[in-house]
Amino acid sequence: MEIIPGVHSIPAGSSPFMGFFAPNVYLVVGNEGALIDSGYGNQESVSSRLDYVSSFAGLRLAYILITHAHPDHLGGARKIKERTGAQIVLHSAEARAADVLADKLVEEGDVLTLDGASLEVLHTPGHSPGHVCFLLREKRILFSGDHVLGMGTTAMRPPEGDMAQYIDSLRKLLDYDIEMICPGHGPLITAPRRKLEELIQHRLDREQQVLNGLRRGKATVKELVAEIYPELDSRLYEAAQGQVLAHLLKLEREGKATPRESAGYTVK
Ligand SMILES: [Zn+2]
Repeated sequence: MEIIPGVHSIPAGSSPFMGFFAPNVYLVVGNEGALIDSGYGNQESVSSRLDYVSSFAGLRLAYILITHAHPDHLGGARKIKERTGAQIVLHSAEARAADVLADKLVEEGDVLTLDGASLEVLHTPGHSPGHVCFLLREKRILFSGDHVLGMGTTAMRPPEGDMAQYIDSLRKLLDYDIEMICPGHGPLITAPRRKLEELIQHRLDREQQVLNGLRRGKATVKELVAEIYPELDSRLYEAAQGQVLAHLLKLEREGKATPRESAGYTVK
């Protein structure tokens, strides 16, 4: 499916992972191509991505640009590389943290050129230590991986996830002139600035709820989750725990909360 000229979203076909959490894979096309993320590694997902790429006669896939090393983004990379010869590209911190091999390691500010298209690497740690977004400069489109989602909330699982870094990385994106965001999950984001501001505000509101809970004597992650998410679906419990713990660790680092001798935290 072509989003705008030269930028495609590649559906995975019917896979067991379809639905709300299905990862988006994008293809930037010129005389050469680059994939943004690779989807899951199951054969059906990989085959549908490869079929899409080969529908462009003579297209050489130069890069598989990975936003971060989670299986729904990196899983298909090796198989796609084997078939196309494309280089797998990862941020150095992500390769180190997840202990995966890449053909090319990148850092903040690196630019990958692709026959008329320039993709700038923006290091956006938070969801994971070496998470990156890729900015397609000519069209001012940001491929945001799991840093900014089309719907729902980015998972934060300490120690991999870091709330302070995550909020800083959201603020950092406000400095860029971005026309549209192509997220790692969910629909395209056509009002990027508003979305970024909403996400930052949402995290600050949650942080305030955590502080209020601590002040009322809710000390542990479990107690805080029960207070902040009173009607939580049990399937989302683990995710909520991660969010609350990430907020507590941020507050601790900022000197606003301290661990108690027993379990949990208290306000300073
Ligand atoms: Zn992820």
